[in-house]
This record gives sequence, structure tokens and C-alpha cells, in this order.
Amino acid sequence: DAAALIARRDRAFAEVQEHYYDAPPRIERGWREHLVGTDGRVYLDMVNNVTPLGHGHPKLAAAVAKQLRTLNTNSRFNYGAVVEFSERLAELLPDPLDTVFLVNSGSEATDLALRVALAATGRRDVVSILEAYHGWTYGSDAVSTSIADNPNALATRPDWVHVLDAPNPFRGLHRGTDAARYAPEAARRIRELAASGRLPAAFIAETFSGNAGGIPLPDGYLAEVYAAVRETGGLAIADEVQAGYGRLGEWFWGFEQQGVVPDIVAVAKAAGNGYPLGAVITTRQIAARFRTQGYFFSSTGGSPASSVAGLAVLDAFRDEGLQRNAAEVGAHLKGRLQELATRHPLIGAVHGLGLYLGVEFVRDRETLEPASEETRAICDRLLALGIVMQPTGDHQNVLKTKPPLCIDRASADFFVDTLDRVLAEGW
Ligand code: PMP
Repeated sequence: DAAALIARRDRAFAEVQEHYYDAPPRIERGWREHLVGTDGRVYLDMVNNVTPLGHGHPKLAAAVAKQLRTLNTNSRFNYGAVVEFSERLAELLPDPLDTVFLVNSGSEATDLALRVALAATGRRDVVSILEAYHGWTYGSDAVSTSIADNPNALATRPDWVHVLDAPNPFRGLHRGTDAARYAPEAARRIRELAASGRLPAAFIAETFSGNAGGIPLPDGYLAEVYAAVRETGGLAIADEVQAGYGRLGEWFWGFEQQGVVPDIVAVAKAAGNGYPLGAVITTRQIAARFRTQGYFFSSTGGSPASSVAGLAVLDAFRDEGLQRNAAEVGAHLKGRLQELATRHPLIGAVHGLGLYLGVEFVRDRETLEPASEETRAICDRLLALGIVMQPTGDHQNVLKTKPPLCIDRASADFFVDTLDRVLAEGW
């Protein structure tokens, strides 16, 4: 049954649309952090990008179903939910970020953020960093540099994209205690670029290196880089598609962890808990400059149903202690994973904050040779034992550990105990 569905999927889809496992189970339904296959097996979902509230959230489902029965239409009509959602989203952002655009996905959000920055500055150059992913649309793909997602990312990069070193203190140019060197070097590169006449419209980065493996940015990194790009008249774009919405536990937004306020913020994934919804939030002044040079309309971005989904998600964050749970269960999980690292030499590091953790596997703790094949095999073993996970990072040697924010301690312990058992099998 599962195999037959894969065969049909492979015929219907292009080869480039991969699935995570050679033989993925056929998933039928889910509740909270659990998934259930058509074979009746229950899996723990340790890697869900889009469901902070968990699967099958009853209030969200009821709100969207009711809205679909009453009204769902082209987002140009006048209805209340879109305004209410935009107001509540803006309330969660610091001043002067108060102006909202609604779209359907993360790629659209980062793409629109770039368009807004280009139009507002009248410039065309953009600065990105290595090991980054911002989406698949033409503009968001251009600033994506992750070779795991696109092996040709750097070779095919357009000339308006300028790429800084990955601020990765574990594996980047400046390991360990030299982490603080990334920001001054990035700032120097931005000033050089401006001096050469390529004035940047924007600097775009995730506020936490999610796609690099769940690695926090060095302290003060964004403050220094944002200052450098603003000094040249450019804007700071924060990609919060993965890091935002309480994922990092203590901080609702990743930029708060860095102590900065961006000029443009891109949001998606968690915003609709799986229902398509993304947003760009900027200042009134920047949005006004976009108005003079740009046009924006999305048929379904901010539709009544997606707005209602967005509101149900914000209600759940207000009422269900998700962010506190991310901080508490995240700290517990990280502590236990760090203990595993003392016993299993394959674990080179445990990265991350809150419920965005990365367990990085290496063949040698000195050379940091990535254990990429092992990581994939470990994911397959974990799946066989009832846990859904996925490799991440440029070398695909990091276990992306990103469960729904409602995960309880027992599930977190089940994951660590199972990983312990799998690693003890010898690698
Ligand atoms: N930005 C980041 C940081 C992402 O991780 C992703 C998706 N992995 C995107 C943008 C693109 O989002 P979407 O897949 O919803 O288009």
C-alpha cells in the first residue's frame, strides 16, 4: 500500500521532488506530535517544520472548516479576519514594524521582502550568507546558497547576489572561540562592496542558522552586520520562516535573540500551522517607498480561511503555553543529547536553542569529517523504531531536531532513548 503510493507519486511527480526515505510509510493522520500510518503504526514526528501546535489541532480545524463553509474568496474583498490577523501579527513585532503583506508561503515571503527592499532603495544588489536557504522562487532561490538544497547554488548565482562566509562557529572559517570574527569580516565585505559602487539594497539572513544545522549566530553578529548595511543605505531583512514563532523557546522571534530590530521580516511555515500562510512585515515608510515603484497583490495570500488559520495559531500561542514548553522541553532535550555526546563519539556537537536543535555527526572530532551516510542510515533506523527525522546542513550530517512545540517530555525522552540505542549499535 505504501509502496504502491510511492510508485504512483513517482509517476505523477518529477524526479527532483524527492521524499525523505527510500521507503517512507504512508501517513494517514496525526495528533499533537504523533503521526499514524495506514498500517496502524504510530510515529513520533521529531522534525515538523510547519505544525508548532501539533497535528489535528481541533480549534484550528474547526475555525478553518467554519470559514470555508461561510466564505473563502479572493483576498481583495473587504472582510474582517484579514485585518484582525494583520493587526495581531503586527502587535507581536517591535516598533516601527507595523505594516503587513500577506502571502502563501516562505518562498513568496522572502521573495517579496527582496522586492520591497529593491524598490525602496532603488538598488539591485543583495548580500546573503553561505549555507542559507530562503526558498524556491526566482528571487528567493537566487539568494539561497545551500549546496545541500542545490549543488549548483553558487555556480549559478546571479551577479547581483554577494555571499558572505557562513557564520558557523563549528565548521566555518573561524572555529570555536574565533566566532566573533565573522561579524567584523562581514561588515568589512559590505563596506568594500559599497565602495566598489555596488551599493546593497539589503542583507538577508535567517536570524538563526536553521538550514546550516540549527546553529545560533555568534553573539552580536546581526547587530554589527545590520549596522554595516544600514551605514551604506541598505536594509536588513530577517528570514524568520524557520526561527520565528517561538521555535527558539525564550524568544518569539530569532532577531530578539540577537538583540536587533530588522527593517523587513519574512514569516511563513508556523504562521498557519500547515495551512498556507506567509507574511512580510515592514515599516510604513519602507512600504510607502515600495508603493511608488512596485505593485503587490496575491489572490489567496490572506484569504479568509488562511487569515482564520493565522488567528487560531496566535490564539494557541496565547493560550497553550507553546513557547514556554519549547523552552522547557528544549532545554531538557538538549541536556540529554549533550549527555549522549559524552558516550557516543559520532556526535560532534549538539547545536541549537529551544526546540530547534541539531545533532551533528562526524567521523572524527578533530577533522570534523561529516558522517553524512551514517546520518541517513540513522534516520532510516529511527524510522524503523517509530521516529520521523531528517538530515540537514550543507553536508546532510545533522539530525534536524524540530518537533511540534507541544511535544511532551515523555516523547522527548523516547526520542533520546531510541537514539541512544541506535548509536550503541555501532557506527
Ligand atoms: N526561508 C527559510 C529559512 C526556509 O527554511 C524555507 C523553507 N524550508 C523557506 C524560506 C521557504 O519556505 P516555503 O517552503 O514555505 O516556500
